[in-house]
This record gives sequence, structure tokens and C-alpha cells, in this order.
Amino acid sequence: MFVITGPSGVGKGTLIRGLLERMPELELSVSATTRPPRAGERDGVDYHFLTPDEFERHVRQGDFVEHATYSGNRYGTLRSQLERHLDAGRPVVLEIEVQGARQVRQALPEAVAVFIAPPSRDALRARLVGRGTDSPEQVQERMDTAEGELAARPEFAHVVVNDRLERATEALEAIIRAARGARAKHTCR
Ligand code: 5GP
Repeated sequence: MFVITGPSGVGKGTLIRGLLERMPELELSVSATTRPPRAGERDGVDYHFLTPDEFERHVRQGDFVEHATYSGNRYGTLRSQLERHLDAGRPVVLEIEVQGARQVRQALPEAVAVFIAPPSRDALRARLVGRGTDSPEQVQERMDTAEGELAARPEFAHVVVNDRLERATEALEAIIRAARGARAKHTCR
């Protein structure tokens, strides 16, 4: 299992899209959220869009491997999503924020986590503004949250700086391939 984490706007989604093109055997886990869908987002594809009550019910039933509140909305990885792929022997990728990545590390220490870092804070703000999905207040809120998230970088053994997309995608792919190779060797012994 692979966890891709880092501040919102750093380009995790874009990097993962590139990674999945290069490694189609990877499965991307679809998260649950209480955030309203953005234009073009589809339920069950981009996220499972839940009401706060539905989300809370899953929390109480212990259905989440990890969950966190981010910018006033809740996000979480449903155990059923993961198990569907892992039981079939398919490697799964999670795209989650830092609190969730910490929970996964606790629950599943064998998961490989990669922190995606921006080349600078200015670059991160420019990306958040440029993608046009958040209001100026929301951008500021995400930048405030990013301060804490950037401080978490040393917790992660693998860090990829998203300076140039092609280079960063290659670096991410190399980490995943190396981890898969090491796991295969271990299993063969
Ligand atoms: P967005 O609202 O931009 O889609 O996502 C906001 C943040 O929540 C991003 O950093 C994204 O990676 C993170 N996120 C998405 N799904 C999950 C999840 O299942 N769990 C956690 N902890 N964070 C998630």
C-alpha cells in the first residue's frame, strides 16, 4: 500500500495521474468526504460524497482506516475500499493529507508513505489560486493549514519535491518500483 501525502495544492493528484499512466497495475482508493462536489466531480469516482451524518455513522461503525477534518470538511479512507483491492492482491495508492498519513503509519507500518513538497510556499499559493477551485478565503485557509503540513516533512522517509512535473513523476515512480521490488524479493525468500 502506498500513501501519497503533502499539502493541498502541491500537485498530488496530478502526480498520481502520471504515476497511474506509467504503472496501470496500481489502484487508486476513492476516499469519502463531506465536502460538496466541485464542478465536474463525480460521486464514486472522485470521492464518495457523504452527508456529515453518513460520515459520522461510518466513523462510529469503525469503517475508516483513517479519517481527518481538513478545512472544515471530513475526509476518510473506507476499509472496504482498501480491502477490495488488497484482497485481490492489487497494490493500492491513497492520496491523503498529513493527519491521515500519520494514522495509516500507526495502523499499517508496512505502508510506504511519500511526502510531496512544493518548491516554495509561493509556488504552493500560486497553484492553489491558479486551479481556481477555491475562494480567496479558502486559499488562505489551505495555506494556513499547509504551514503545519510542511513541518511534517521530516517525518517521512521519502520526499519528492514537485518542481518539474516530469522529473517529480519519475522520482515518485522510482520510489514505488523500488518498494515493490523489495517486497517481491522478500516474499520470494
Ligand atoms: P480536496 O478538498 O482538495 O479534494 O482535498 C483536501 C485534502 O484532503 C487534500 O490534501 C487531499 O489529499 C486530502 N484527502 C483526500 N482524501 C482523503 C482521505 O481519504 N483522508 C484524508 N486524511 N485526507 C484526504
